[in-house]
Amino acid sequence: MRKLAGLGLDGIMLDEWASGIVYCFSKEHGHNDPVDPARGQLQLGKMIREECDKVNPNFMLAGEEIWDAAFQYLDLSFARGSFDITEEYNSGAFQIMKYTFPYFIRTLEVHNVNLPCPFSAIARVNIAFAYGMVFSVCIDSYRGTLDDCPEFANYLKEVIKIRKYLRRYFGEGIFRDTLEAKIVTQSKNINYATYKKGNDKLIIVWNTDQKKNLTIPISVEIKPKSVRIYSPFQKIITYPQVKVSGPFEMKVEVPADRFVALELLSKV
Ligand SMILES: [Zn+2]
Repeated sequence: MRKLAGLGLDGIMLDEWASGIVYCFSKEHGHNDPVDPARGQLQLGKMIREECDKVNPNFMLAGEEIWDAAFQYLDLSFARGSFDITEEYNSGAFQIMKYTFPYFIRTLEVHNVNLPCPFSAIARVNIAFAYGMVFSVCIDSYRGTLDDCPEFANYLKEVIKIRKYLRRYFGEGIFRDTLEAKIVTQSKNINYATYKKGNDKLIIVWNTDQKKNLTIPISVEIKPKSVRIYSPFQKIITYPQVKVSGPFEMKVEVPADRFVALELLSKV
C-alpha cells in the first residue's frame, strides 16, 4: 500500500471491505462492543492509513460499502450498488441518506451497458448528480474505458461542468429533499431535489422517461431576484431581473432522460 501511495496515484479502492462484516448489537453473544466482530478489520484500516500517510496524506482510501467506524481511516464509501436500483430509488433511500447524513459521501454505480433495469446510464448520472453522489463509472463491467462510449462520456463531461458551476450547493449547501418547492405532476417519471445555500436555492428536476419530454410547473415559496437555468448541452439561460409578487412560478420543459437545474438567486 505504501508503494502504491508513493506511485503518485490519487487513491485506491479496497474491494470487499464490508463484505461479511457486521457491527453486532446483540447483548446475547458475550461481546461488549458492537465493533468486536470487525475489530481486526479496523486495526488493518488504521495500519493502512498510517502507512499511506507517511508517503502522501492526501492518498484517498475508498472501501466497498464502508460505514461509520471505518471512516476513521478510510475516506470514501464506494457503493457498487445493485444493477437494479429501482427499489432503492422508489423507497426514498437516497433521499433519506442524503438528508440524515449529509456529509456521508456515497457513490452510485453508472453502467454504460444495457441491463434489465428501467434506469439508463444517463438516468443514473442524473440521480447521482441530484443527490450529490460520486459517479462510479463502470464501462462494460469494468472491462472498458470512456473511449469505448464517446456519447456517454460527452454527457458525463457536460454534467460535471454543470456540477462545477453549482458546486457551492453540493459542497457547503444544505440538501432539503423536496422542501420549499412544489411540483404538481401526474408523471411518475418526474422527481426533484432542492438545495439551499444562504438565501439562494437550487432545484433539480429530472425526467426518467427515456422518450417523452415533460413540461412541468414549479412553484417556490421565495422571491428570487434572478434565475439561472442549466441543462446538459443547453446554453445557460439567465433571467436577470425577476419580479414576483406571490410565490415564484415557472413552467419548465424537462427533456427525456435529462435534468434541468434552476438556480434561484437572492441577488441580481
Ligand atoms: Zn454478536
